[in-house]
Amino acid sequence: MVRKWALRAVIAYFLFGAAMYVYLFFLADTAIPDMYKGTSIDPATFLNSRELMLSEEYSRIRNLMFFLATPYQWLFYYLILLFGISAMFERWAGKTAKWFPLQTIIYLFWLSLATFVVTFPLAYTSYLFSKTYNISTQHFSSWMKDQFLDFWVGYATMCVVVLVIYSMMKKFKKKWWLAVWVLSIPFSILMMFIQPVVIDPLYNDFYPLKDKQLEMKILSLADEADIPAEHVYEVDMSKKTNALNAYVTGVGSNSRIVLWDTTLERLDDEEVLFIMAHEMGHYVEKHIYKGIAGYVLLSFIGLWLTAKLMELWVRKRGKVWKVDSMTSISSLPAFLLITSILLFAASPLTNWVSRYQEMRADRYALEMTEDRDAAVRTFQDLTRAGLSQVNPPYLVKIFRYGHPTMLERIKMADEFERQEDED
Ligand SMILES: [Zn+2]
Repeated sequence: MVRKWALRAVIAYFLFGAAMYVYLFFLADTAIPDMYKGTSIDPATFLNSRELMLSEEYSRIRNLMFFLATPYQWLFYYLILLFGISAMFERWAGKTAKWFPLQTIIYLFWLSLATFVVTFPLAYTSYLFSKTYNISTQHFSSWMKDQFLDFWVGYATMCVVVLVIYSMMKKFKKKWWLAVWVLSIPFSILMMFIQPVVIDPLYNDFYPLKDKQLEMKILSLADEADIPAEHVYEVDMSKKTNALNAYVTGVGSNSRIVLWDTTLERLDDEEVLFIMAHEMGHYVEKHIYKGIAGYVLLSFIGLWLTAKLMELWVRKRGKVWKVDSMTSISSLPAFLLITSILLFAASPLTNWVSRYQEMRADRYALEMTEDRDAAVRTFQDLTRAGLSQVNPPYLVKIFRYGHPTMLERIKMADEFERQEDED
């Protein structure tokens, strides 16, 4: 019986992978609509033929990897339940320690280690592709160091989160999800507060801008938007990647705008100022705080649904999975499986909200800099540096894109100028 279910799940995974492969490589139309041919939106006008070919190839591979990775995790959680491996980890933990928190920490170590080993081939393949297409510049040893960091940071966070969840399950039989939700609010805010000062510096070096002339220009722009100067940072990314990026992070006194050094080095001053104005748009419109509010709302629904589904699954399948009750730690893969499926199902919505905020930030930047040319050049350079698609397939857009597509971004910059001209 167990084998039959396992076989079915594996077959379903491969069928899904094959279907996505056919969709991404053969069915999806990523050509530019005829009306934009020859305009600044058309990648043929700003990429050479080699870049055009590489960006199509690399984007397809990355999109496929994205769609393979999430269900791969689901398959893993399902199989370790089905084969009683989760129950075995719980027995090992029970033999080593008698105290519940310690048992949980030991159980989590085995589960995290198994997850790391099983997902490593996918992570490594992604890294290899990234190297092949000259996006990643990171040496294997440095990449591996980041993997280990990910492991320990993830493990430490997991220990805290899982201990709280299972203590609440034991304490409040029915309403545990509500208690977890209430506790998750201060916890997430704390995590966002310490992220830029505790976690991010483990991976990369952060410092004030090196190019002092550019810094002057950026700070005077920041001054216009009332953003204090000490909130602008540069991060050393050129050792790891050729891609360009900038972002807003942290809350309260730790909130900051971070520019990758690759962005500062490879774009001209007007483009950097456009990107900076975009990030200031996020800052001024308080997108981080709106994001937290949205997350709090979604997690209320998500935790309630998780509780219902978990009760149902453990009642129906617990015997087969050798999980005696929901409150025993061996049920954790079921919790992770359900939350991962729910997060994936919610991603079209969360991405849609994010794309809206990004569009607002683009508009803010256009209004502030009044530099349409720099905006268009920035989007074109971002496309080239990341070998990304200007017009991605529909499913890729709704599940993967937290930013509008380059087609949409360049088009908006274009139309913005026309509106200005009419005024
Ligand atoms: Zn943005």
